[in-house]
Amino acid sequence: MYIKQSIEQLAPYVPGIQPQMDGRVIKINANENPYPPSSQVQELLGGFDYAQLRYYPDATSQRLRQLIAAHYQLPSEHLFCGNGSDEIISYLFQVCFEEQDTIATPYPTYTLYKTIADIHRVHTEYVPTRDDFTIDTEALVQTGAKGIFIANPNAQTGLMLPLAEIEELLQRYDGLVVIDEAYMDFAPASASAIALVGKYPHLVVLRTFSKSYSLCGIRVGYSLADPALVHALDKCRDSYNVSLLSQLLAEAAFKDQTYLQRTIQWIVATRDRVAAALTELGFEVLPSEANFVLCKPVHGSAIDIYDYLKARQVYVRHFDAPRLSDKLRITIGTDAEMDVLLKYLHEFAEVRSTS
Ligand SMILES: *Cc1c(COP(=O)(O)O)cnc(C)c1O
Repeated sequence: MYIKQSIEQLAPYVPGIQPQMDGRVIKINANENPYPPSSQVQELLGGFDYAQLRYYPDATSQRLRQLIAAHYQLPSEHLFCGNGSDEIISYLFQVCFEEQDTIATPYPTYTLYKTIADIHRVHTEYVPTRDDFTIDTEALVQTGAKGIFIANPNAQTGLMLPLAEIEELLQRYDGLVVIDEAYMDFAPASASAIALVGKYPHLVVLRTFSKSYSLCGIRVGYSLADPALVHALDKCRDSYNVSLLSQLLAEAAFKDQTYLQRTIQWIVATRDRVAAALTELGFEVLPSEANFVLCKPVHGSAIDIYDYLKARQVYVRHFDAPRLSDKLRITIGTDAEMDVLLKYLHEFAEVRSTS
């Protein structure tokens, strides 16, 4: 075969399972949003003239860049749009790291950083989070890595790294610092590192339309960074990396900040209610600022609960990995979906205590 050895040996990224969605399935395993996107998205799709699809899209997603930049009060030279923020992560490896370089990232975190690093033959040094899963920025700096990737709030845990600690990191470390804010819309706005873009040229902030805007399906993400880095990303990207429809739909969704804030409030309220209910049921729940909670059953094993829920068409996420295999990651769905989940968890606890 003609496949490079490094790719043959690569462990691929494993997403949450995508069950056939019939009416009864509750899919709370991939941190997708339970609410539909803004109605502006539907309106645009309904009125869309399909003949427009014969044209190439705007190569630089200029209107979208300007819209987002204006919202964050930054010049649009700081903005870059990608086919999902995952694509931007790939470009960062093309632009910033040589083969055999090392990046550092906390453990646990989003596993895609290592997958993409592997593809580019860049080493990943995992730095364990503390016993309470908080991120140790000093230990990340101590690795001497060429770049540091931090998901904030962190993937898998939902914990947040305070902005002051990120700024301190930026002050004493001069490698590339990537702050992946895929879940930041569910946290207080004052926690975002976007406030530091423009002040630190080695900072990249990643954002996505997938989670808070409920648009996983259109694959649009963006980054905010120094104009020189944006220029380098532009040299590396596919000529038309964001599709014409995706650009238009992302613009429509972004303009509807009222709907965004409303759905975020619903999810945050549900999250806090579910966290309290899980605690009552005897789970240890990590304090989450995201649209999911990581929790550890104190009675019964995580995998038994996972199987029990799956048999009832409720799909949560279980990671067969150190410090995670005794826990479940549960995406916050609608209140009705969470009530079904909690009902089954009650049932599971009762079956256990009577058997
Ligand atoms: C979901 C997720 C992403 C992926 O975003 P896309 O824009 O859908 O590619 C990136 N980072 C983290 C931490 C995520 O959880």
